[in-house]
Amino acid sequence: MNRTLVVAGNWKMNKTAAEARELVDAMSAGLRSVENVERVLCPPYTSLPLLAEMLTGTGIGVGAQDMHWEEKGAFTGELSPSMVREFCEYVIIGHSERRAYFGETDETVNKKLRAALNNDIIPIVCVGETLDEYESGRTEEVVRRQIASGFADIDSANASRIIVAYEPVWAIGTGKASSAENANNVHKQFIRPALTELFGEENAQAIRIQYGGSVTAANASEFFSQSDIDGALVGGASLKPDEFIAIAKAAQP
Ligand code: PEP
Repeated sequence: MNRTLVVAGNWKMNKTAAEARELVDAMSAGLRSVENVERVLCPPYTSLPLLAEMLTGTGIGVGAQDMHWEEKGAFTGELSPSMVREFCEYVIIGHSERRAYFGETDETVNKKLRAALNNDIIPIVCVGETLDEYESGRTEEVVRRQIASGFADIDSANASRIIVAYEPVWAIGTGKASSAENANNVHKQFIRPALTELFGEENAQAIRIQYGGSVTAANASEFFSQSDIDGALVGGASLKPDEFIAIAKAAQP
């Protein structure tokens, strides 16, 4: 199955709107020159309108880093799916930092995932084990649980729109990326079979599974040469224009 690779930059809590303008100015020409790779930038909420405006017509998508599942109401500090949809085509759901620091659970991931699909927003759903879980050999159990609960009650017809990001927590922001072989094994032996159980073979084959965790220009092509690694979710390196452009270029077929 030929899957178009997708490279997304998660800026996390970095860049004011003025700084975001500079960063997009520094990387948009380079990113535009990349062919046959889906490219997405996920800035903080305050820069979503700016990026939506700057990237119109460039083929580079905009994503939010989170959203609430309810359409409106008394949820101070939150953004609804239609607020996100005004500016974004994508949304990151269940990032490990949201799970670790902000009480995100498989149940809230599931609500957000269903809300994203209902609102025509492409969800990038993060799964992955902690260092403890990795060292005690529980990777399969953890990602299977995150998928079984987080992806419950999704119509199979919608499943191919979902992007999964496998992000081992021990590799995020640590400079210690997983080996490409280990990540590919997790994608191929654990994640895609779990998706197949839920959505059937054909739909599961169409779902892109990104790797995330200390991806750089130096290691990107090793990841992208693997059979079941369909792109990357990039944190730190997405704030460095040359680095992020090089990662996107490495994903070209
Ligand atoms: C991330 O935040 O999703 C991530 C993978 O970060 P980094 O690339 O910095 O490890």
